[in-house]
Amino acid sequence: MDFLSALLTIQGLATMTPPILTHTHSHLTPMQRQAMRDRAPIRDSPSNAPLLPTDITLPPWLQDYLMAPAPESNDALLICRAFNFAYQLHEGQLRKSGEPYIAHPVAVAGLLRDLGGDSAMIAAGFLHDVVEDTDVTPETIEAEFGFEVRQLVEGVTKLSSFNFSSKTERQAENFRRMFLAMAQDIRVIVVKLADRLHNMRTLEHLRPEKQQRIAQETRDIFAPLANRLGIGRLKWELEDLCFKYLEPNAYREIQGLVAERRIDREARIEKVTETIRERLAELGIGLVELQGRPKHLYGIYKKMQSQHKAFHEIYDIAAVRVITDTKDSCYRALSVVHDLFRPIPGRFKDYIGLPKPNRYQSLHTSVVGLTGRPLEIQIRTLEMHHIAEYGNSYSIS
Ligand code: MN
Repeated sequence: MDFLSALLTIQGLATMTPPILTHTHSHLTPMQRQAMRDRAPIRDSPSNAPLLPTDITLPPWLQDYLMAPAPESNDALLICRAFNFAYQLHEGQLRKSGEPYIAHPVAVAGLLRDLGGDSAMIAAGFLHDVVEDTDVTPETIEAEFGFEVRQLVEGVTKLSSFNFSSKTERQAENFRRMFLAMAQDIRVIVVKLADRLHNMRTLEHLRPEKQQRIAQETRDIFAPLANRLGIGRLKWELEDLCFKYLEPNAYREIQGLVAERRIDREARIEKVTETIRERLAELGIGLVELQGRPKHLYGIYKKMQSQHKAFHEIYDIAAVRVITDTKDSCYRALSVVHDLFRPIPGRFKDYIGLPKPNRYQSLHTSVVGLTGRPLEIQIRTLEMHHIAEYGNSYSIS
């Protein structure tokens, strides 16, 4: 597509008759409504060049797409068009926080982009609430953005109409199964998880009863789904946010305890990582990265509960992660670690030889650290690391 037709497509959207909105502007005075229209960007731009909205600050990646003189690819065009479409449909709607509603779909699209989602997923992130919250039909989505985006948006909308009020663990498992079956396309679940993560991040603006209900549902359904799909990033943050709202006292306590010993801990971890780094270099084992990683708060809490231990008794609250270049280097790095530090019996697990059901791979071991305290160490390749954090490719249906 050449520059002019690309631009015309964008502008064409801007001049499209706006669909009738269900509850837009109804709470505003005529003056506020006028102010909203005055602030509207994109459409009626005299220079015919796209402008950025002025009522919200867009993330730099999206600004880059929107301000590009011409979309660089069909993907870029789809992303720009989906944003503009959602922006106009949600115009005048506000979130409970008082922000323009569009801030939410923009955040969801950004999370999907960070997770490595394709352009159809990012577009679905922008559009995921339009069928539910405005009068736009799935047919319109298909006409504007194609069948794939329609399917994603429709899938997410269907899942939103699902009513979970699980009472037992078994019911929760049934819900998770139904959810997976209903979604058909795994990408629908990933969009839904990103939607839930942003809602959890902004949960403070809701009433306490609603906070409890949403946090419980997230713990029962969504965090386990993120785990099943192997998306560690989403799982950990969802779990910590649930923890914050469901057990606020324990959350604050552990947060305080973790913060208290930070300096101490970081110095200790630094010594360990330096020792490992030097030895790997001597032996020419390909190291990509060496991290001293703090564990997530809910993980520490669960361990205290399940092992009936006090905070100071549990295995170190930070772990060392060794990221190597090849699988072979993983096993060689393991021998280095076990040579430098005494391994603790029964703590070694080979998830490379025997991956977890969600395809997670790593070598796990615990050793006696420099001060005699146990220290957890994980060894994996960069590819394994990527799968552990972001999940597998989402294009498998
Ligand atoms: Mn949403």
